[in-house]
Amino acid sequence: MAKHFDLICLGGGSGGIATANRAAMHGAKCAIIEKGLLGGTCVNLGCVPKKVMWLASHLVESLSTVADFGIRIDKYNFSWERLVKNRQTYIHRLNQLYANTLEKNNVTLIVGHGKFTAAKTLTVNGENYSADHIVIATGGRPSWPQIPGTELGISSDGFFALESQPQKVAVVGAGYIAVEIAGVLNTLGSETSLLIRTQTVLRRFDPLLSNFLADCMQTQGLNLLKEHIPSKLERTSNGKLKLYCKNGSSLDNLDCVIWAIGREPRSDEINLTAAGIQTDARGYIHADEYQNTNIAGIYSIGDVFGGVELTPVAIAAGRRLAERLFNNQKDSKLDYHNIPTVVFSHPAIGTIGLTESQALEKYGKDNIRIYQSKFTPMSQALATHKQKTAMKLITAGKEEKVVGCHIIGEGADEMLQGFAVAIKMGASKADFDNTVAIHPTSAEELVTLR
Ligand code: NDP
Repeated sequence: MAKHFDLICLGGGSGGIATANRAAMHGAKCAIIEKGLLGGTCVNLGCVPKKVMWLASHLVESLSTVADFGIRIDKYNFSWERLVKNRQTYIHRLNQLYANTLEKNNVTLIVGHGKFTAAKTLTVNGENYSADHIVIATGGRPSWPQIPGTELGISSDGFFALESQPQKVAVVGAGYIAVEIAGVLNTLGSETSLLIRTQTVLRRFDPLLSNFLADCMQTQGLNLLKEHIPSKLERTSNGKLKLYCKNGSSLDNLDCVIWAIGREPRSDEINLTAAGIQTDARGYIHADEYQNTNIAGIYSIGDVFGGVELTPVAIAAGRRLAERLFNNQKDSKLDYHNIPTVVFSHPAIGTIGLTESQALEKYGKDNIRIYQSKFTPMSQALATHKQKTAMKLITAGKEEKVVGCHIIGEGADEMLQGFAVAIKMGASKADFDNTVAIHPTSAEELVTLR
């Protein structure tokens, strides 16, 4: 006999946990199936450890300006080992916090690998579990290039397992993870190369952001290698790695090669066929706007759904689904438009809405206006090397509704959230202009753009 629940979440990452907790708060009998650490990618191998590493590198970066403010630091030591140890202690606290919250909400944690045996039934360690509603929130995993020697490199998972700092590193990729990891390593003192296939990083972002970041990287001493596609990785007789590229060039004496070429959904390990659940060619479990898969009572959220692969998106989708299923909120669903996002690069990026080319395509040249600014923030005013900030607002129509906001510079990560509320509410350029500036800040530039 299968043990029966109202709701089972397959996957104990941000999405699954948020869904089960919210459903349980409405009185549903819930379970989570998870074989690894609670919190999934975000807490264990993504956002959280990444932000700790970024904060460390941000502190190191700040040291370059302190002398200009009259603060003398003759020497500092950085210990990768201590940082990683403290980071992991923090993460273990978060794992425990998640377990405590599940317990408080009476959510049953089933530890093990769950697989479908039928549409509403799963098996874990030989035991069967059934539910009226099953949420698939199994997340994703890093993609690996199909080239000889690929296994000699590591993915972002491997980056977070590094116990000592690599001295010479190549990071391959041009997306979020590549620029974040390369930025951290470069700032913390590793000799870092970033290999990209095209001419710039973050190609799908507004060009103001991608071009500005690519320029900053090079100024900061990061070796940005454009049009470099790896063809082979090998270990040489000195124990180091040598990375060959299709253009005939190579990098040698590398301690570490990090693949950051994208991620793929974890949908192939859960026997979807037993339940008749369909995926697309890349393995994403598609669902409608209410997260319903093709099988009634089965839902997909988060990275395995593949809408917008961000932790808060998975959480928001899961909570809204729980409200719909267990709190009678029949129309509850996540609006996937105007989702703000931050890249923890050096400097950070905050972005929401349409890029310039998307706005052009959607509204036409005559119906959009672009406002831009590039300036030295006050935090850099006394500095010898002044890291600039850049911003762009894109408006559409006669009413000049703000349809895109792109920021790169110090504080962009913390600046965006409030502006995202305004943009989500449909703010116009006039609304921005009617807001009194907070002086002296960088954010005030967004309400004074001409
Ligand atoms: P992304 O999809 O962001 O970027 C991967 C990039 O790598 C591609 O866009 C592509 O860029 C490049 N690439 C692909 N294949 C190859 C190849 N064979 N060789 C070289 N380069 C290649 O994936 P990430 O893994 O960086 O991140 C996955 C997702 O995780 C993100 O989309 C994001 O949603 C989320 N994330 C969010 C973060 C945040 O919120 N701060 C941080 C980290 C991840 P091109 O086509 O230009 O070559």
